[in-house]
Amino acid sequence: MRACFAYPPMRIINPATGEVLREVAEADRVAVTAACRRARAAQPAWAATSLGTRCEVIRRWRALAVERAEPLARTLALEVGKPIAQARRELAGVLPRVDFFLAEIEGALAPEVVLTSPGDHLDEMIRREPLGVVANISAWNYPWYVGANVFLPALLTGNTVVYKPSEFATLTGLAIGELLHEAGVRADVFQVVAGGGSAGAMLLEEPVDAVCFTGSHATGVKVAAAMAPRLVRVQLELGGKDPVYVCDDVDVATTAAAVADGAFYNTGQSCCAVERVYVHERLWSRFADAFVATVRDYVVGDPLDERTYIGPLARREAALDHHEAQVADALGRGARVLTGGRRLERPGFFFAPTVLVDVDHTMAVMREETFGPLIGLARVGSDDEAVALMNDTAYGLTAAVYTADRARAERLLARVNAGTAYWNCCDRVSPRLPWTGRGASGLGVTLSREGIAAFLRPKAWHLRGV
Ligand code: NDP
Repeated sequence: MRACFAYPPMRIINPATGEVLREVAEADRVAVTAACRRARAAQPAWAATSLGTRCEVIRRWRALAVERAEPLARTLALEVGKPIAQARRELAGVLPRVDFFLAEIEGALAPEVVLTSPGDHLDEMIRREPLGVVANISAWNYPWYVGANVFLPALLTGNTVVYKPSEFATLTGLAIGELLHEAGVRADVFQVVAGGGSAGAMLLEEPVDAVCFTGSHATGVKVAAAMAPRLVRVQLELGGKDPVYVCDDVDVATTAAAVADGAFYNTGQSCCAVERVYVHERLWSRFADAFVATVRDYVVGDPLDERTYIGPLARREAALDHHEAQVADALGRGARVLTGGRRLERPGFFFAPTVLVDVDHTMAVMREETFGPLIGLARVGSDDEAVALMNDTAYGLTAAVYTADRARAERLLARVNAGTAYWNCCDRVSPRLPWTGRGASGLGVTLSREGIAAFLRPKAWHLRGV
């Protein structure tokens, strides 16, 4: 990476210990501007490169990610605090996404003839062209997933990319860039600008053609506001307050284990993590008991330990404060802690896996994104009450219903305002399906064919022969 050194180096901290892992030069304005200029200059040649060549380098990148999976997973575990088994799973989970994009790209770029009218010698045709320079500002929680959802289709469709990883996943961001360059993507076609939020803000001031942002609602609003005067295309993949409704006809043990996994996997730091659970009163106490038993069994500890299921909070002190504030607010309004409820007295930034009951929607824990190992369980008396509560949110990323009855689930989920509906599953993403948030959860689509089209703009051709 060609970066300037106007700032003191950025310290990459291991959230499991608080120790400095490495120091990295942070891109300043000169470096950000230069990266965008190079990306602009390189874009026409990249777009003119044959699709076969573009696919070939992405295939090589995939092969390198497989070959280096173990050290890359270790880096992710060290800098983000992701338990190593889950870090390996993230790397493996990128591969089907690569395969999907490679399988679909030719069709996405094919010209589409929508009218052939020999009588008046008229053809109407749509061709799809790349956007140009894409700024990709990414989150730390699944850096391989959320990065790849953007830069793979962006590159395959002929765009150049300036990638700003989260400062909490800088080493992974740099590794992604090194692998792309080693695979044959020219240095100017994909560039990493390492840095904190200010590097992201500087990138927004550059003349880019699109901004694809993954992160919190608060930052997403800033991104949208910054780009609005220039009418630049903006995609926002933001947070959620994703609900699950457990109906009265489920197998309690398996459902409690599945929903707890949806809430606590990745230490609860997933955009589509379960953030609220509504349980039918007929099985309330059995469900709450099974849920808490599952959570108490989770192994909290060193992310490099194979047995660890819950790691530290990547955003360190700020995240611990946020969790404590949500617990204090809930307790002050009448909630009870069934397990956990506090930070752990050990090095690093660990919060005990926490389950709250007697929660309601006056409490922040049921309204604002938690993004960690803390969940509220609420009792409901009917399907209608559950739907009303599921919809009582500014967010709209995912929603899940657990029931033995598919028709009941489909009826309920059709009434829920969310981009993704899950029946008897949760916290799940498919490359074949659009990933899209409603309301405060964002704008635009990644993944699926629509998530490829998002990096293209149509040109309408009216072709009249003589
Ligand atoms: P943030 O909003 O804090 O940061 C996201 C990115 O924006 C980071 O790279 C950050 O840099 C950068 N940034 C910060 N300030 C600015 C600014 N003013 N202008 C431009 N860029 C800026 O989110 P997190 O990284 O903490 O990610 C967690 C959030 O992401 C959660 O809300 C989660 O739900 C959401 N998310 C959504 C997904 C989805 O698909 N809908 C997927 C994954 C996460 P830096 O980190 O260096 O400060």
